[in-house]
Amino acid sequence: MDPHFDWIAVGSGASGLANALWAAHRGLKAIVIEKAPVVGGATAYSYGGLWAPNNMLQRAARINDSDEQGLEYLRFLSGGFAEEEKMRTYVKEASATIKAFAQLGVPFRMIEGLPDHYFPGAPGSLGLGRTLEVAPLPKKALPDSAPALLESPYMPGGVSWSDAIKWGGLKTSSTRRPSMRRVKDWWHGCSSSV
Ligand SMILES: Cc1cc2nc3c(=O)[nH]c(=O)nc-3n(C[C@H](O)[C@H](O)[C@H](O)COP(=O)(O)OP(=O)(O)OC[C@H]3O[C@@H](n4cnc5c(N)ncnc54)[C@H](O)[C@@H]3O)c2cc1C
Repeated sequence: MDPHFDWIAVGSGASGLANALWAAHRGLKAIVIEKAPVVGGATAYSYGGLWAPNNMLQRAARINDSDEQGLEYLRFLSGGFAEEEKMRTYVKEASATIKAFAQLGVPFRMIEGLPDHYFPGAPGSLGLGRTLEVAPLPKKALPDSAPALLESPYMPGGVSWSDAIKWGGLKTSSTRRPSMRRVKDWWHGCSSSV
């Protein structure tokens, strides 16, 4: 293998994979270096929610939101301890980042039934559309050479946040439900659809 690279991303969580993908998209020869034997980092343990106010999916679904409203909510959450400029940058860049990666083919979708955590009490909060996730892919969509993914102890592979909410929440005993088993089979390539 040619040991020369234009871009080296350290760590295979969301940040490392995203910046390597973007570098490759910009024509750079990129590599991701991971110290663990599996890919995913803390990202693989998480539920994969991305909070992006005033995003393109909301606009497509005609859900009213704005940068200013998102900022108002962040100001409430931070209780005066966050820097205004950083919050402004986050709000502006979050929706732009979602749009850019969606154009690269990342299948974002809104998490149905998930409002802002402090909705409706907090100023600027919204009941739907700010928290997004990526639709899961079956393992068989990956090449055989793909490194193994870290399996989350919290949620079986292939189960999305939308699924968990639909089935009654993250803490229900839904792993025993037939629908959860079908998703697991699909993820592991045992059946063709959910
Ligand atoms: C249960 C749980 C639920 C969560 N839910 C959410 C959520 O819904 N929404 C949200 O926004 N956040 C959530 N979080 C937090 C979120 O997952 C993390 O903030 C995010 O994944 C961090 O991404 P990252 O790419 O920076 O780091 P990571 O995903 O941790 O990736 C870092 C990688 O770097 C590797 N690494 C470290 N040092 C080196 C080295 N020296 N050389 C090579 N590799 C190295 C590590 O092994 C790891 O794979 C959750 C976290 C947990 C644990």
